[in-house]
Amino acid sequence: MKRDREDSDDEQLQSSRVRLGGDSGLNDTSDASNLDESDQNRDFTKPSGKKHREKTTFTIAWICALPKEAIPAVLLLDEEYEPLYVPEDDNSYYFGRMDRHKIVIATLPKGSYGEISSAGVAHNIARSFPSIRLCLLVGIGAGIPSEENDIRLGDVVISIPSGNLGGVVQFDFGTEYADRPFQLKGSLNKPPDALAAATSSFEINDQMGKSKIPQLLAQAQKKMVKNPSRYRYPGVEKDHLFPPNYPCKSEGRTCRDCDKNQVDLRRSGYRSCVDPIIHYGIIASGSKLMRNPLLRDELMEKYGAKCIEMEAAGIMNKLPCLVIRGICDYADSHKNDFWQDYAALAASACARELLGFVSPILYKKTSEE
Ligand SMILES: [Zn+2]
Repeated sequence: MKRDREDSDDEQLQSSRVRLGGDSGLNDTSDASNLDESDQNRDFTKPSGKKHREKTTFTIAWICALPKEAIPAVLLLDEEYEPLYVPEDDNSYYFGRMDRHKIVIATLPKGSYGEISSAGVAHNIARSFPSIRLCLLVGIGAGIPSEENDIRLGDVVISIPSGNLGGVVQFDFGTEYADRPFQLKGSLNKPPDALAAATSSFEINDQMGKSKIPQLLAQAQKKMVKNPSRYRYPGVEKDHLFPPNYPCKSEGRTCRDCDKNQVDLRRSGYRSCVDPIIHYGIIASGSKLMRNPLLRDELMEKYGAKCIEMEAAGIMNKLPCLVIRGICDYADSHKNDFWQDYAALAASACARELLGFVSPILYKKTSEE
């Protein structure tokens, strides 16, 4: 999705990197002006004390489009490793461990988004890390609520095959398809068996009431020292689903002038709990920003899509990938960025818990280990 990209996101991520260890590694571009007083008194030329891991030991890639999506991933690491020098690779990486897995966290280049950029990032990962076997694309997306699917802001959608569709459908729309609203470009690869099986175990665990996602949300929020309120739940009163034929009346899409009596027409009522609900099904990956609720609903009616995003199409056929999207808007004219941070955290917590159901992946050890 094209989302507002603020310079503060990069600053926040760099701050997280420093705060989680602080180092002068080759990948570290920390800006001293972003540091608080205690950080400025530290000597970053000294070793961080973090463990070093060879590139061959990393088996799982975690890709985010935006820094605001990568921040919660870094916060949810069980252990962060030393930055690694990765020659002839322009990606920005973070390295660490989640549960039993050594993972590489990568973001798209600043200001980039969409299929081409995500394909470039996936290509570099596959070339630079020979043991990578699985990939998670984690971040935010637009939800497609319907009578069958009570999808709300802050919920999470996981890409799962349905019928003859592989979990992600690629579509395109615009002037070149003036005679029809959009064109299906194809169904992308199914998620790998290891991630599909882990998703089953994850769902069973969740339905049995054993999910640790609420604790993971709290854990990450507690680590947000620099801006503690940033990743908190915005509040159900700020979740406005307007009818498809009711365009936004407010400048800047604040919905200040929108008639709140119009909202929640499809809702069965308030939920008793605000923890994210996890939905499983088709995710639609498009090349342009979607702000049209009629087209949104058509994606649901034709393909059963529950979510819309913009990066999966660049990754799915390069790395064995599962897409996990936190819902931050409803792809309509009321879209704003108010829910993006929390939705990114919800998706990250979901991905973090799901990784706990993935069996350890063997890698080829080097002579240095
Ligand atoms: Zn509005």
